[in-house]
Amino acid sequence: MEYKQRTVTCGQLRKSDEGKHVVLNGWVHRDRNHGGIHFINLRDRYGITQVVVGESADQSVRGIADRLHVEYCIAVEGIVHARPDSMVNPDMPTGEVEVEVTGLQILSSCEPVPFMIDDESDAKEDTRLRYRYLDLRSGGMQRRIKLRHDFVRAIREFLSDRDFYEIETPTLMRSTPEGARDFLVPSRLYPGKFYALPQSPQLLKQILMVSGFDKYFQIARCYRDEDARGDRQLEFTQLDMEMSFVKRDDVLEIMEELFGYVFKKVMDVELPAKFTRLSWYDAMNTYGVDKPDLRYDLPLVDVDDIARSSSFGTFKTVLESGGCVKAIKAPSSEGVAYSRKYITALEEAAKIYGAKGLAWMKVGAGNSLEGGVSKFFDGLQSKLLDRMGAQEGDMILFVADQWKKTCNSLGAVRIKLAKDLGLIDPKAFAFCWIIDFPLFEYNEERGHWEAAHHMFSMPQSQYLDTLESDPGSVKGDLYDLVLNGYEVASGSIRIHDVELQKRIFRICNIPDEQAEERFGFLLNAFRYGPPPHGGIAPGIDRMVMIMAGETSIKEVIAFPKNTAAVSPMDESPSYVDQNQLDDLHLIIKQPKKAE
Ligand code: ASP
Repeated sequence: MEYKQRTVTCGQLRKSDEGKHVVLNGWVHRDRNHGGIHFINLRDRYGITQVVVGESADQSVRGIADRLHVEYCIAVEGIVHARPDSMVNPDMPTGEVEVEVTGLQILSSCEPVPFMIDDESDAKEDTRLRYRYLDLRSGGMQRRIKLRHDFVRAIREFLSDRDFYEIETPTLMRSTPEGARDFLVPSRLYPGKFYALPQSPQLLKQILMVSGFDKYFQIARCYRDEDARGDRQLEFTQLDMEMSFVKRDDVLEIMEELFGYVFKKVMDVELPAKFTRLSWYDAMNTYGVDKPDLRYDLPLVDVDDIARSSSFGTFKTVLESGGCVKAIKAPSSEGVAYSRKYITALEEAAKIYGAKGLAWMKVGAGNSLEGGVSKFFDGLQSKLLDRMGAQEGDMILFVADQWKKTCNSLGAVRIKLAKDLGLIDPKAFAFCWIIDFPLFEYNEERGHWEAAHHMFSMPQSQYLDTLESDPGSVKGDLYDLVLNGYEVASGSIRIHDVELQKRIFRICNIPDEQAEERFGFLLNAFRYGPPPHGGIAPGIDRMVMIMAGETSIKEVIAFPKNTAAVSPMDESPSYVDQNQLDDLHLIIKQPKKAE
């Protein structure tokens, strides 16, 4: 089909273009017909321009205009006019002009749309995903996809300027489970053998270090066959990085510089040159989580000593059995009344993490302690108020239990309070590093120790002699980057010594033969002069989500799966032909139908 190609985009025209003869291509965003005059908002990726089919237009042009509907793709030829002052639309960059249409062509028609293309769609998520091609036309999705592009581009710029090489690693590789379940790809050529889609390029990037590529990055797709839960996707993108001859602080510094550069470039936001660093213990102890949102403070405060002097039996029993008592101050607020009902809602938040209850007291007139457990704190009032920095109108909330349970439960109360009291600045970006993580976690179900991050992370040197005798107290050279309460990256200095690597495998219940079978290629590489190395991998989807002020990564992924791990647009996963199964030597064992 011959058609007029655009000479300008729909976001381009200004008053200074008055009188120009132009061609625009785009979609009919809105079409208002006022007494035979069509005011059409024509839209493309760059913006919206008003084009007008007036009474003086050619009969054929008017005829075509009458056939238009929303989302028709059209070519418009016309003359740019300045709008009269009273008609200027200050909300549109092109609002000072309109185009008087002299030629009009329908490039393609559009069926009635399932939802209007607006800045943000209010259609149900599954409808948006089924018609993702339409949803992606919305202003919001277009901005977010651009933000993602700008973000990745700035990363590439910065790292390339710092001598990093971008190196691709295979997406078909050996299955080396990293914690989650692998996606497997059956081999047609080798019946019964499988490739796996990488959970991350972890081992390959370490091998690249052995090969001397001392600064590596990749915008890498990672695959994890996990149950659909929360805001997870089966595949996600991370900025995978690895460097040789670095220590922990070198990695942290390059990341601070990277994100400083990227946030300035993409959002014009100035980040602090250094991010706060918290040890895992301090993060847990003070904020109740290992990914604290530092846009607000609300610390958890240790009150063991005060609780011990009180006459509250419950607290004393917990302390005697090795537990602890912590408190948080809920500051007085105009928006939230500390009613019984509200305290119960806070208690529910605490109970999710195992707390048996939430004790409370209020600070009343003249700083007297009132209600709840206050009667057990006679004579301890000023000490408690001092410790908590509390004053009239505030409330003090307590959890008493084993340390971790206490931290997690009161941490959940902290988050709820911050949300409800409006303490969170939605425009702020609060980065922090969490360091000195435990290297191992005990898996009660499996009955053995497992790596808290992954098995390739280096234990801190002071624990090398006690790895086997006391795995629970070993700290690793691990670090997480946290942004606004989300873990956005994790990484570590790696082991580069075969013997040490095998010791870690053994502690994680992987005997030598099994280690050679599963990770032999890595161990072999480590027999050929591996350099000391370390790395990190920020999640691209999550970071862009936070930058865009969104709460779901689906908002920053062009074609995500829904929460049931299904893509409503192409209806994957789908059945395949018997021929395909035969080629792959596969027989499907149907799960038993529920009775
Ligand atoms: N491979 C790790 C992950 O995906 C990140 C890293 O240690 O670099 O979590």
